[in-house]
Amino acid sequence: MKHTTLEVKHVVKQFNEDTVLNGLSFQLAQGEILSIVGPSGSGKTTLLRILAGLEKPTAGTISMNGREITNQKANRRDISLVFQQPLLFPHMTVEENIVYGAKVSKKYKKEKTDKQIAAIGMDRYRNHFPSQISGGQQQRTALARAMATEPEIILFDEPFSSLDPNLRQELRYWVRDFLVKQGTTAIFVTHDLEEAMIMGDQIALFQEGDFQQIGKARAIHESPANRKVASFIGGHL
Ligand code: ADP
Repeated sequence: MKHTTLEVKHVVKQFNEDTVLNGLSFQLAQGEILSIVGPSGSGKTTLLRILAGLEKPTAGTISMNGREITNQKANRRDISLVFQQPLLFPHMTVEENIVYGAKVSKKYKKEKTDKQIAAIGMDRYRNHFPSQISGGQQQRTALARAMATEPEIILFDEPFSSLDPNLRQELRYWVRDFLVKQGTTAIFVTHDLEEAMIMGDQIALFQEGDFQQIGKARAIHESPANRKVASFIGGHL
């Protein structure tokens, strides 16, 4: 049995009068990849920000490897967050940005970084600065940098939404393959059901502040937990 890496219990998040997360609970086993799919504006980003320590929950607890981290600062958590928009150091080249990530993990090896640069198709651009490459290339570099830090958990917030469809396809497989090879636990947020199915071992359907159902895509499709799930799945398949 793989041990539980992440345990989220009864997490509530309110902004003024609005309840965005309504007592959400779930667990992730070591190496598991969970896709969270749901409509935009439903609170998916808020959940990731809370897990990464960038936002405090109104109530509830978060534990990693059996230790509560609810009040631990973001930089003390071994969790990386890949944002929708790429965040790169503007004064560093593509290669330097990725090397920076690798050095954070204290596992820097030039050959490994070279492989990562090749895998994202950025060989020709390794000495370019972020301002000299396209948005898609910046996002690929940001992904490689987050992966290079080799955190215990990686959270992805719609990381492919700014990429063109071909590149999106390619990177889905590259990211999933990388996570599986490394045995990294991950959460992948998207509003695209097809992407959720490709990326996740399991899918969580998020609506109205809570998971309506967690399971394999096929099982959810065959027996949706309620009408909301059925209409969401039905509308997308
Ligand atoms: P999603 O990622 O599913 O699109 P978000 O987590 O970004 O959804 O947003 C969920 C809701 O929480 C939205 O109604 C948004 O306006 C609100 N929200 C998010 N962050 C804040 C904040 N810092 N202050 C007030 N409201 C917020």
